[in-house]
Amino acid sequence: MITEENKQGLFFMHSGDASQPYRYTVGTWGSKFLTELRDHKQFYGIRCPKCKKVYVPVRQVCGPCFTEMTELVPVSAEGKIVSYTILRFQFLDPETGERKPIPYGYGIFRLDGADTNFQHFIAVPEDESRLFIGARVRAVFREERRGSLRDILHFELVAD
Ligand SMILES: [Zn+2]
Repeated sequence: MITEENKQGLFFMHSGDASQPYRYTVGTWGSKFLTELRDHKQFYGIRCPKCKKVYVPVRQVCGPCFTEMTELVPVSAEGKIVSYTILRFQFLDPETGERKPIPYGYGIFRLDGADTNFQHFIAVPEDESRLFIGARVRAVFREERRGSLRDILHFELVAD
């Protein structure tokens, strides 16, 4: 790790030339999940044949039942806020190396048709009181999608 100070007296730490390459598969169901997000802006869950719980994002095995899951089911790109936070302290986004504009929100959502929660960024409205647990949200997709969770720009409140 290397530490540098800029002209404003801010210190930056970075990896220098060190790289941390990784490459792993997201699996058959994870690939289908990302393909549908990219190509059709469609969320999919996977249903346990035993307890009928629908997992989003998808996974191969239902933990409580220890049963393999193979049934993909479409779920809505809309849902409700389970929890959220608004971040007001700026920092360097580790994914982009850029300062993340503030304030920005991060939320946990329950999509309609799912039995598990999904987390992502949430757009903070000018009137922050409109954000609350139980508020309706929907996914906003990027125009150019590449098959990753970043194909979702963020979630936003559904206008009422
Ligand atoms: Zn199960």
